[in-house]
Amino acid sequence: MKKLIGPITQVLTMERLPLKGALKDEQLEILENAGILIEGEKILEVGSWQSLKKEFPQAELFELEGNFVAMPGLIDCHTHSCFGGSRAGDFAMRNAGKTYLEIAQAGGGIWDTVTQTRKLRLEELAEKTVLNANRHLSDGVTTIEVKSGYGLSVEEELKMLRAIQLANQSTPADLISTCLAAHMKPRDYEGTNSEYLQHISSELFPILKTEKLTNRIDAFVEKSAFSPEEIAPYFKKAREMGFDLTVHADQFTTGGSKVAVEFGALSADHLEASTASEIWLLTTSNTISVALPGASIGLGCTFTPARKLLDQGGALAIASDWNPGSAPMGDLLAQASILATFEKLSAAEVLAGITFRAAAALGLEDRGKLKAGLLADFVLFPTADYREILYHQGKMKPEMVWKIGSLEGGKLGGREE
Ligand SMILES: [Zn+2]
Repeated sequence: MKKLIGPITQVLTMERLPLKGALKDEQLEILENAGILIEGEKILEVGSWQSLKKEFPQAELFELEGNFVAMPGLIDCHTHSCFGGSRAGDFAMRNAGKTYLEIAQAGGGIWDTVTQTRKLRLEELAEKTVLNANRHLSDGVTTIEVKSGYGLSVEEELKMLRAIQLANQSTPADLISTCLAAHMKPRDYEGTNSEYLQHISSELFPILKTEKLTNRIDAFVEKSAFSPEEIAPYFKKAREMGFDLTVHADQFTTGGSKVAVEFGALSADHLEASTASEIWLLTTSNTISVALPGASIGLGCTFTPARKLLDQGGALAIASDWNPGSAPMGDLLAQASILATFEKLSAAEVLAGITFRAAAALGLEDRGKLKAGLLADFVLFPTADYREILYHQGKMKPEMVWKIGSLEGGKLGGREE
């Protein structure tokens, strides 16, 4: 069954834009008074409303009244939205001037979330993940990357990744899972960092493959977590097994982006501490740079040098880093809009960063633009002018979210096969 949605005041297709480099708003392809024709889960055609109506009279019509801007469903390529507990205590301590170490000594930090997450049963964890995913979906985010990394043992990491897999079956949004067992060495592991990583790669990696739990391996390369030297054999093993790689890089200290580029990671995320040499490395590689403004806002830290990365020809995606510690807001559009004001990004650069450039960070080629053959994932904002979307800094919410050809999702709404 074909469905035709329109008339739409402006359709931002995000077509004909390069993966890398700075973008001007004039480069955006904007179709006016347009329609989107879909069949099943995919887009069949995007074009003039009048012509599509004439050409496909048998299509089921979804006639819109009022002004709308359509754009591809948003893609959040970096979240930790599967977790237990809250870190409101950390937030208060941090704002009271306590250091990272003092907060950790007072029982906060990542280890607190590990403790809270380990207490939850798989089903409870899945339920929480679904709630977060559905909230994100109503904000227009149709694809959400979700990391493990609060289990930090073979069994607990498996529980998290199985919970994400279960959650994926219960939300219309697509959840793309990533194994972040290399988040930190767990306090209850007696051994060195390298021994822990060796243990994870030999015991956990094979199960991830056989259970098809994820094809992505992430690592936190940072003074407080793992050094580039410690991560190298871990990534070597992961790459040999065919996993895609991604890195938490250059958040407080540099080193991570070099690892990312050396191992051909799909993305290097954070980069707040990147200097000229890291920016050069990244922009001359195929690794996507991912800015995480939510972490900068949450910690009151500097933003990723997004402007420099783009001006030097880099590919920049923007993600929420939604997590209970440093980025509790979990509002991709608000954070991307705020990053734009601090880093002087054009609307085209921001919207590319949360659509097709984010898709590239996840290695996904079937979404992120509105064109024939791609997934029918798109959002409709109640405005006649696309510039209003970022102008309202996240307060303008999409009125309609289409996910794989269904309004507000297919998996819940009865997917047509
Ligand atoms: Zn993160």
